[in-house]
Amino acid sequence: MTERDVMEFDVVIVGGGPAGLATAIHLKNLLDRHNAQVQASGNGQQLAPEIVLIEKAAEVGAHAISGAVMDPKGLDALLPDWRTRPDKPPLEAEVHTDYALWLTENGGRKLPITPPPLKNHGNQIVSLNKFVRWLAGIAEQKGVQIFPGFPGRELAMDGNRVTGVQLADSGVDKHGQPKGNFQAGAILAGKLTVLCEGSRGSMTKQLVQKLKLDGQNPQVYGLGVKEVWEVPKGQCPPGLVVHTMGWPQDSKTFGGGWVYGMGETEGGKNLVSVGLVTGLDYRDPSLDPHRLFQQYKLNPKIRAFLQGGKMLHYGAKSLPEGGLFAMPKLFGDGFLLAGDSAGLMNSMRLKGIHLALRSGMLAAEAAFECLQKGDFSATTTQVYDQKMRADWLWEELRACRNFHQGFHGGRLMGIVNAGFAQLFGGRGFLWRDNLKSAAGHTFLQQVGPYFGGKGKPVAGKLPEDGALTFDKLTDVYNSGTMHEEDQPCHLVVTQPDLCSTRCVEEFGNPCQHFCPAAVYEMEEKPGSKHGVDLKINASNCVHCKTCDIMDPYQVINWVTPEGGGGPNYQNL
Ligand code: SF4
Repeated sequence: MTERDVMEFDVVIVGGGPAGLATAIHLKNLLDRHNAQVQASGNGQQLAPEIVLIEKAAEVGAHAISGAVMDPKGLDALLPDWRTRPDKPPLEAEVHTDYALWLTENGGRKLPITPPPLKNHGNQIVSLNKFVRWLAGIAEQKGVQIFPGFPGRELAMDGNRVTGVQLADSGVDKHGQPKGNFQAGAILAGKLTVLCEGSRGSMTKQLVQKLKLDGQNPQVYGLGVKEVWEVPKGQCPPGLVVHTMGWPQDSKTFGGGWVYGMGETEGGKNLVSVGLVTGLDYRDPSLDPHRLFQQYKLNPKIRAFLQGGKMLHYGAKSLPEGGLFAMPKLFGDGFLLAGDSAGLMNSMRLKGIHLALRSGMLAAEAAFECLQKGDFSATTTQVYDQKMRADWLWEELRACRNFHQGFHGGRLMGIVNAGFAQLFGGRGFLWRDNLKSAAGHTFLQQVGPYFGGKGKPVAGKLPEDGALTFDKLTDVYNSGTMHEEDQPCHLVVTQPDLCSTRCVEEFGNPCQHFCPAAVYEMEEKPGSKHGVDLKINASNCVHCKTCDIMDPYQVINWVTPEGGGGPNYQNL
């Protein structure tokens, strides 16, 4: 058995995104306030817990790509002085113009009114990358220890109690043998572990399965594929927000796109974020979200924002879209879940940063109560759940609780449901409180039935021209993705035989299509049943987790690679 160092902490926070950093900052604020009161009054006991935050990326922010619209409500709650503090947050532009487009294959029309959830006046366009780096600086100033390049591999547990996090080993070769630089991943023992790993977090998934924490509905996801462009000045002004519906998704596939005018960098680059979300509950086994995104940019309405520009960055990320009824139980003995790991996203508004910040704050308040009482069991961590239910965050999530699953019956039904929910406080069509849902991969149809028994479709020529549209490898290059090549594959296929047998016949190997980074390939293998075998180009992986979510047999398990591996989104 491998010997591991054990480092003792009081609170271990996993993930350097908005939720994790908000937990760290707010917990430090609460402790400072408490200690000042104790000192002033002479009553009570000062608290000086050890708090650590780990992040799998080489630097905080390296796995957070630019280009999001943030409701400032979360930041107002976390740092009420953010508008006047000397170290101002790196916000790109305040939204001054927004509208929605209905796209068709060759064009589109502006909707006469912007649907209320897509109204963004007063919200802030942010580079999430820069924003989380700024939060990390504040957390460090307050004394939080931040360890970037430290991926959590599995939770340390004592029965059903989480006792910390075991880090991934480093210096292991691709056959699983230790190399000269082998280092066993240490155990960060924590009285309380706050999981803020992001969407489909690998340890959160283990925990939800082990302790059966699932909500009433299974979680459903979307995949956002996005690029950051430099475009000529005036072509997409800072503060412009455009959301799109309709094409290129078909009427049975959930999705929509955006163009955000981000503003100018210090170096004078005029930046635009463009992206497309595709619901990971689609039916067509040959659907390729990256390809749809490339087609999207060819639409004249979208092309007009980008032409003459240059693509600078690429990224992809899954989004937890299932809403309130898909949220798992958020607390237990020794743990809390926050942010995307907790399924906190408003899919109707395409927003989650403010919810992540707020949930991090509420997790910090629960952690503070645990520290005061010296009790980290569910008896005290349940305070977090109570605080969430009493907060504006819960009210917002209730209002959109049926949005995504409303589209399971197709786009028209989804729009009817969304309208109904607007009028009746989030209820679904026919007054239903919870429009039941199923896991996204169960919607995927087999090749034969989907294509009318005609077998596997022949894909047309990919629309990449190297100027407006790109193939997956070019895009991966522009994500800055790097992994140590000689390490065990972090995409663990538990039944590899299925790929070259049943999956070829039944689904036509959809991993080749849904992965936005060309990680999965079926290569020729003479002598195998169908003459092909699965090849995994793990070093391309941009950590979007789509394979873990959408694999029809659920045999792909995404685990953290060696520390620092993954995309390297720049500080744009
Ligand atoms: Fe995303 Fe999986 Fe492809 Fe990695 S291998 S980029 S997690 S779909």
